[in-house]
Amino acid sequence: MGQGRLIVLTGPSGVGKGTLLRALLERHPELYLSVSVTTRSPRPGEENGQHYYFVTTERFREMIEHGELLEWAEFAGNCYGTPRRPVEERIQRGEWVILEIELEGARQIRKTCPDAIRIFVLPPSLEELEHRLRGRGSESEEAIARRLARAKAEIEAADEFDVQVVNDDLAIALQHIESALFLTPPVSSLKQPTSPGAGIR
Ligand code: ADP
Ligand code: 5GP
Repeated sequence: MGQGRLIVLTGPSGVGKGTLLRALLERHPELYLSVSVTTRSPRPGEENGQHYYFVTTERFREMIEHGELLEWAEFAGNCYGTPRRPVEERIQRGEWVILEIELEGARQIRKTCPDAIRIFVLPPSLEELEHRLRGRGSESEEAIARRLARAKAEIEAADEFDVQVVNDDLAIALQHIESALFLTPPVSSLKQPTSPGAGIR
């Protein structure tokens, strides 16, 4: 059995994380993409248990209190978190697990699992990011504005990550991610968190 490892993929909303992950998983079906819980409403076409587990704020709070989340954060007015058990079980079985999470969650993982490889996806420019976010057509104007404001702060933190990948040409960005994954030593252990996520605001 190979050694399990945790992979964190972070980047501003609309940069193309989902698109890159779909391509990566197609090429490497052995990778497991963690399914997060969120308090946000499903977008058209999103299925419970496949894209996210859609939960109420009360259930989310309960999961925090019971230590069921490996990390969690608030993003643009909703809460998002990684269910702990499926991730820990898979890594113990020697599997490679990917978390597609925002900056605060990635910072928590840095503390609890310092051996995780953390990748930050950058847009070619802020203009292009806005163009992609609008082009996706999934958010209201207000949600787009919140996501763009948050994007600037996230991009400033890109240096905190092990690897930075600019998603300009999709095929080249995918190649960079594959090099980062398959040419870096694996995770040795998962540690207990030292501090919980920030409180729900
Ligand atoms: P995220 O998951 O980071 O929020 P998405 O994967 O939903 O972003 O991508 C946002 C939009 O940008 C989508 O419409 C997608 O088709 C488009 N997109 C993704 N990568 C590229 C790229 N390299 N060049 C042009 N458009 C892209
Ligand atoms: P969206 O609403 O566009 O699906 O996701 C918004 C943001 O939440 C994205 O940056 C995404 O990476 C992040 N996100 C999704 N799931 C999780 C999670 O479990 N934990 C954290 N911290 N962020 C998440």
